[in-house]
Amino acid sequence: MINIVKEQKGDVLVVKLSGSIEESVDFDKLIGPATKEIMVSTKAVPRINSIGVKAWIKYFQGLAAKKTKITYIECSMAIVEQINLISNFICGGTVSSLYVPYLCQNCGAESAAPYTTDQVKKLEFKMPDAKCPKCGGKASFDDIAEEYFYFLMNG
Ligand SMILES: [Zn+2]
Repeated sequence: MINIVKEQKGDVLVVKLSGSIEESVDFDKLIGPATKEIMVSTKAVPRINSIGVKAWIKYFQGLAAKKTKITYIECSMAIVEQINLISNFICGGTVSSLYVPYLCQNCGAESAAPYTTDQVKKLEFKMPDAKCPKCGGKASFDDIAEEYFYFLMNG
């Protein structure tokens, strides 16, 4: 089940999605019409399947058609994967921040570190090591930059 928390901040509707998007989700009903601008956080979306993707694209294309400015924040790794796979997944919107996968060299724990897309570009896609949240050991970027940041390198 998907859970949606909405907050109107001035002209911007901030929407936080949580849960897997694996069925036909009526985003129109759940989110409703956005005003001038919408910011969508997918920090807590661990999975999205093809049915979820269809519902997603239908909703955000509808917003784009109404000239709503769409910004995606805190994109989860599952969402980044779709952004890279499907060229119109972001429906004319902008990705401003995302989670980056890390793997601890010490205990093997997987974690995710938040970055803005500007930071990633400034780092030239060379992600620095981080501290493992579990053991404090050294965690390294756990993907292939050319693949994980494909949409940023080619967008
Ligand atoms: Zn660790």
